[in-house]
Amino acid sequence: MEGPAVTIVEVGPRDGLQNEPDVLATHHKLALIERLAAMGATRIEVASFVNPRRVPQMADAEAVVAGLPPRGERRFAAIGLCLNLKGVERALATDGLDEVGCVLVATDTFGIRNQGQSVAEGLAANQAMLRRAAEAGLFPQVTISAAFGCPFEGPVPPARVVDLAERLAEAGAREIALADTIGVAVPQQVTDLVGEVARRLGAGVRLRVHLHDTRGLAPANAWAAWQAGVRVFDSALGGLGGCPFAPRAAGNVATEELIYLFHRSGIATGLSLERALEANAWLAGVLGRALPSRVGRAGDFRREEAA
Ligand code: MG
Repeated sequence: MEGPAVTIVEVGPRDGLQNEPDVLATHHKLALIERLAAMGATRIEVASFVNPRRVPQMADAEAVVAGLPPRGERRFAAIGLCLNLKGVERALATDGLDEVGCVLVATDTFGIRNQGQSVAEGLAANQAMLRRAAEAGLFPQVTISAAFGCPFEGPVPPARVVDLAERLAEAGAREIALADTIGVAVPQQVTDLVGEVARRLGAGVRLRVHLHDTRGLAPANAWAAWQAGVRVFDSALGGLGGCPFAPRAAGNVATEELIYLFHRSGIATGLSLERALEANAWLAGVLGRALPSRVGRAGDFRREEAA
């Protein structure tokens, strides 16, 4: 049986929640992951292994992984996000993850603010992290953050992003995400950058995009990426998220928006919009407010019953 045409990597439990001011209880995070799995998610970013003093929301990363169903009993790959080698070692020590997600910031200023390292330092660190993850048998993947623009340096030269992607591929990355971390990209830029990176990487490395909806163009950018050949997309239930180190960045593109976009375009995702809407309502109840997703509020397109 053929799999869905598009794979959606659900990043809600990590990227979605990380900016929430109130720390969610571990059991709520696990209940969210269970609902995302019921929605049909086959890859879920469950936690990040970062300094708990900098990101208190992620302090229970080990407990979240320990609370997941065992590998043989779950139908999703669990991803642990790591920003340095220490994080990778913590992720590996849980013995419950399938993928290590690394992050390389594409500009010096953002890199230093976000994780205390320049691009060159970040590249060296990521190369070591990817090798370590692969050696331990986990799927090594990496996100190039601020690939479409930096809140501090402005435009990011596409040639630099292409070069970084090539070096990460050489270090063993099996999948590389181009991230519009602050939500500045427009569809033509996505078409151009994705096309350029794909040409240089060849077929051996899969491309993914990670979009934020700060300026309302994330679903349009996802469509441009699809047309440029991308088949893997990050999104967060409800459109939650932001970045503690990126001023004014809004949430991730909502999972509900991507499901709606692709399904109504005749492209299978393997996800259930109905289950996503149920999970949205549940999470809104836990957080005590409506979530940003527009499809989450409006629901699926169907004829209204006559009153
Ligand atoms: Mg993000």
